[in-house]
Amino acid sequence: MNAVRKIDLRQRLLDRRQRLQSAMGEFKETTQLMRLLKEVDSALERMNGDSYGLCQVCDGAIEEERLLADPLVHNCLECLTPDQQRALEQDLDLASRIQSQLLPNKNLSFNGWEAYYHYEPAGPVSGDYCDLVSPEAERGDLFFLLGDVSGHGVAASMLMSHLHATFHSLLATGLSARQLVERANRIFCESTISADYATLVCGRAGDSGEVDICNAGHCPPLLIRGDEITSLEATGLPVGIFQSGEYSAQKVQLARGDSLLLYTDGLSEAQDETNIEYGAERLAKLVKGRHELPPQALTEACLEDLRTFVSGAPKTDDLSIMVIRRVK
Ligand SMILES: [Zn+2]
Repeated sequence: MNAVRKIDLRQRLLDRRQRLQSAMGEFKETTQLMRLLKEVDSALERMNGDSYGLCQVCDGAIEEERLLADPLVHNCLECLTPDQQRALEQDLDLASRIQSQLLPNKNLSFNGWEAYYHYEPAGPVSGDYCDLVSPEAERGDLFFLLGDVSGHGVAASMLMSHLHATFHSLLATGLSARQLVERANRIFCESTISADYATLVCGRAGDSGEVDICNAGHCPPLLIRGDEITSLEATGLPVGIFQSGEYSAQKVQLARGDSLLLYTDGLSEAQDETNIEYGAERLAKLVKGRHELPPQALTEACLEDLRTFVSGAPKTDDLSIMVIRRVK
């Protein structure tokens, strides 16, 4: 575990200790509080030695994301009791259902735009952020967002829902794509531990085909105009790294039949059995030959080509693909 993470976990344990102590002054029944306090003290003690983060059954490392979610866990996943395992499965199942409720409508058609996406977690939950937001009114701008939070599993999925909430509260304020990303960056920096960050693309599509797009360290979206494919490279760092981070947006104009394809590195960095990456080049080539396809068919063509490429190699990363097409 890196030093920053360890300091953060120690701080969380100390906070808990303080809260438990003040609660003990308020409640009559303190047996459970005493037990928790003992657990916190024992975790702090292990941190002072060097045994913190090691499984008390097998001595192997406890999964970091589980420690971040609960600094008091002392067994690795493989050494959970059947009861603990059942409880964990139920929690993951619930987390997965909550996360799927955060996803937008799959087939969106709004103000001359059509959109479709594919969202596929590597495990029960995903660290990818996928969003499409259109105003309640008939006219207005369509916002599309695709991002990837550092890490995997439950901790990453919690940050993903944090991003979702941040953007949904900011979207109502009428900001540009650049301003949205700058604000979200500041909020993310203030409210997460320093080792966490997210790459993302935020786009705002207007009703005459113009798109404002801000890419914060994310895989470059592809602009598809006939068989001309352009990569929209990142113009800023991932969010969550520097609070003072500045971003810029690119403006692109889409005509009828033009599309934008966004994806996470679960696509471009997927590997076949010999550890060769799928790669952005193969994707661009595929898209070039399929440029006339509507969003759903283009997404499915990408997935089919990816499956052919990996040919049964195990899935290791969350995967998301989104296509926005101008239809007016
Ligand atoms: Zn173990």
